[in-house]
Amino acid sequence: MLKIHAGALRDLVRSIVAATGSTQEEAEEVAAHLLEANLQGHDSHGIMLLPRYVEHVRQGKLHPNVAPKAIRQEASLALFDGGMGYGQRVGRIAMDWAINAAHAHGHAVMGLRDVHHLGRIGTYGEQAAAAGMISVHFVNGVSGPPAVAPFGGSDGRLSTNPVCITVPAARAGDAPLVLDFATSAIALGKCRVAFNAGRAVPEGSLVDAKGQPTTDPGVLYRDQPRGALLSFGAHKGYGLALVCEVLAGALLGGATAWRPEQRERGIVNSWLAFVLDPGRFGDLDAFRGELAAVIADVKTSPPADPENPVLVAGEKERITRAKRLAEGIPVDATTWGNLVAAARSLGIAEIPEAR
Ligand code: NAD
Repeated sequence: MLKIHAGALRDLVRSIVAATGSTQEEAEEVAAHLLEANLQGHDSHGIMLLPRYVEHVRQGKLHPNVAPKAIRQEASLALFDGGMGYGQRVGRIAMDWAINAAHAHGHAVMGLRDVHHLGRIGTYGEQAAAAGMISVHFVNGVSGPPAVAPFGGSDGRLSTNPVCITVPAARAGDAPLVLDFATSAIALGKCRVAFNAGRAVPEGSLVDAKGQPTTDPGVLYRDQPRGALLSFGAHKGYGLALVCEVLAGALLGGATAWRPEQRERGIVNSWLAFVLDPGRFGDLDAFRGELAAVIADVKTSPPADPENPVLVAGEKERITRAKRLAEGIPVDATTWGNLVAAARSLGIAEIPEAR
């Protein structure tokens, strides 16, 4: 595993995005989002994605410098078309709208459809939390043939449809709760990371094409017919994945995974977000006090493994972030090779040193 300094990696990613036609501002925003995913330990949603983004720009499936366009806009409800722009920027702008609307009206419901990959959904939850807002997100995705089997099924019908819920920090200096996960047992990108690194995935994540359990990610990338990812939590995770497909894809008029004609559009995300001002229910200080007490209480549960104390949502990512900022970001050789090849294909000569 190579290790690369976060700042140097960010500069390279920014140069690559800018070389595909993005403004410096957009390139900076996409680079910051991808690097933050790596810093927080979600390598599946970091720099590994960039060569695919470059390919999608070349194929006309991802359009640089696009802003969300309102299809419907009321005081506290809006539906935006993402114009297949960079999700990292289009999503942030759409979320800005929802946060402003929630400040003005106490709550906001925001839909965004037909946007290219939104990346790590926690980014937008953190954006809401930084503005003092609670947020709930349902996202569906369509990208090639669907990879996740419905509970009790044996082939891919849904995507890894993520759910995210965030709650702003109780007190200055505290951290927000950031619950942010794919509804598949593991993120699809994590299978790719494992496949690239020649590693097995955890048990209970995959079945082969015959529906038999396996830990070999090659069933998704090497085998034909291919295997499928399983949902987390058996029927419960599957239920959430289905709800994402309905609330984000079907309700907003976005892409849905059952339609074969949608699968060749690159990566298409649709996103339904609810943003809520916690002060509107009454005593904000009482809520904050209770929030801090609930978190303190769960964290004092004696750990089953003394090496692993109880954490709350978002905490593992903060621990990983501090470590990676200090030590550099681990990058597997295949991911690094793909990134360097993408950079060179765009005429970028300055490549940071990987240790
Ligand atoms: P994951 O399985 O690592 O779960 C992450 C969540 O679990 C976080 O909220 C984390 O704080 C919490 N967590 C982890 N360990 C914990 C512990 N010990 N105690 C308490 N909480 C703990 O995440 P994932 O499913 O691999 O998802 C990774 C990323 O992929 C997410 O950011 C998600 O938004 C993103 N994603 C995006 C898309 C898309 O289409 N844009 C699709 C799928 C996933």
